[in-house]
Amino acid sequence: MIDRLTAVVGDKYVLTGADCAPWATDFSGKVTAQPMAVVRPADTAEVAALIRLANETRTPVVPAGGRTGLTGATVAEGALVISLDRLNRVRDIRPEARVAVVEAGVVLSKLHETVEQHGLVFPLTFGARGSAMVGGFLSTNAGGSNVLRYGNARDLVLGIEAVLPSGEVLDLMNGLHKNNSGYDLRHLMMGAEGTLGIITTAVVKLYPKPRAYATAMLALPDLPTALRLLNQVQEDTGGAVEACEFMPGDYCRNYADIHPEHGMPFDRGYDVTVMMELGATAPRDCTPGPDGEVPLVARFEEILADYMEQGLLLDAVVARSEAQRKVMWARREAAAEVAATRKPRVTNDIAVELDRVGEFLTRADAVLAQVDPGADRSIVAHLGDGNIHYTVWPGSTDPAAHDRMVEAIEEIVTDMRGSFSAEHGIGTFKLNSMARRKPPVALEAMRAIKAALDPNGIMNPGKLIP
Ligand SMILES: Cc1cc2nc3c(=O)[nH]c(=O)nc-3n(C[C@H](O)[C@H](O)[C@H](O)COP(=O)(O)OP(=O)(O)OC[C@H]3O[C@@H](n4cnc5c(N)ncnc54)[C@H](O)[C@@H]3O)c2cc1C
Repeated sequence: MIDRLTAVVGDKYVLTGADCAPWATDFSGKVTAQPMAVVRPADTAEVAALIRLANETRTPVVPAGGRTGLTGATVAEGALVISLDRLNRVRDIRPEARVAVVEAGVVLSKLHETVEQHGLVFPLTFGARGSAMVGGFLSTNAGGSNVLRYGNARDLVLGIEAVLPSGEVLDLMNGLHKNNSGYDLRHLMMGAEGTLGIITTAVVKLYPKPRAYATAMLALPDLPTALRLLNQVQEDTGGAVEACEFMPGDYCRNYADIHPEHGMPFDRGYDVTVMMELGATAPRDCTPGPDGEVPLVARFEEILADYMEQGLLLDAVVARSEAQRKVMWARREAAAEVAATRKPRVTNDIAVELDRVGEFLTRADAVLAQVDPGADRSIVAHLGDGNIHYTVWPGSTDPAAHDRMVEAIEEIVTDMRGSFSAEHGIGTFKLNSMARRKPPVALEAMRAIKAALDPNGIMNPGKLIP
């Protein structure tokens, strides 16, 4: 097998034994498994040749990008890991069509930097952007902080190329905004976590880069008021809100403990604190007036002042410089770092409707106090899309108690018609939840699709589908 792999990609790009160590685990650090080999193909033709070989020999294949996924989806004992890191070219940027053609191994931050040179943005962003790759974030249909304005990964892709488990190349590469020609196989490949094939290239959407931002930390009496303010700002600014991130007071305190140089957002402690960011491209919103004030910031401050007068806003700190804005974002993007300060931790990545975030948190806290009275929790939420990261630091070390807690949280989510998996996906960590919570009819349809495309079950076996 190693000889045949070498014949496809060359000696230098087949790793075995200890050289596979970086691919034997992932960012979560919770799983380890020794691959049979790691291969690093250079292009789609090599990926296809590898998959044909794997299919012929019934070898399990695990596609790997930046390995920042948080669900244990990129490791498997004895598997052939196909790393896409050498497919790392931004092949084309077409500013007028507002698209970029990118290979699967392009790192997200490199994509950001490349398109910014054209005055454009690829708006998907999250804390792991320095490592996560195109193929990985499409395969997990990643969300991140700007979903309320630009959507999830699925909303940002027009065309895709993928190698199917047979080794055939599915070429759906185009930049069309309208294309009603049957099942959307592009969207099927996205969010499939490598179980239906390997994404090799994509056509992604670009947007004009905001020329001005208005970013603030806000303290509010409660979450319904935060949502009301979000809607008000959207209405008054023509939908300029880029992000609305809930970071409660105890999260900010935990962050300040590990980053005292950034401190707390306010002199006083507040329970309900939110970071809101607006972005604008129109010169009328971005060009500073004679007083040096940027109109977008001025308008935002007017709305905030109005809310404050009504007693609906308790406090606000508006970033006055890029450095201050960066500190606000650093606080938000440290969620994984804050969660990792205590072990063990049990993560719940859930979604509910926008106006029910507060209700979920009240119910979850009550249930947690019952199931594990010694537990503590850390919360951050993408308030603009209803995605809550409810991380629990259990009081008990009993894994069965942790499972009971996850089930109890899921029970609330199911009752609220929410999702037990908002943006990180299923991998292996959420297989039990998938078996419990996904409607059986949906699971059977997914199994039928998997069997039709991958009859030998070679693609990332044991992931996503229980
Ligand atoms: C600090 C941190 C913050 C994060 N914040 C967010 C967030 O805000 N929002 C969010 O949605 N996610 C977030 N994530 C998780 C995020 O979804 C993943 O980090 C990212 O999308 C995965 O990209 P990756 O290249 O690391 O993929 P990997 O971890 O390598 O792979 C992820 C999955 O995709 C499959 N895969 C990889 N490449 C391909 C390919 N080319 N074709 C087919 N399948 C492939 C793998 O087999 C695996 O199933 C965060 C992670 C970290 C560590």
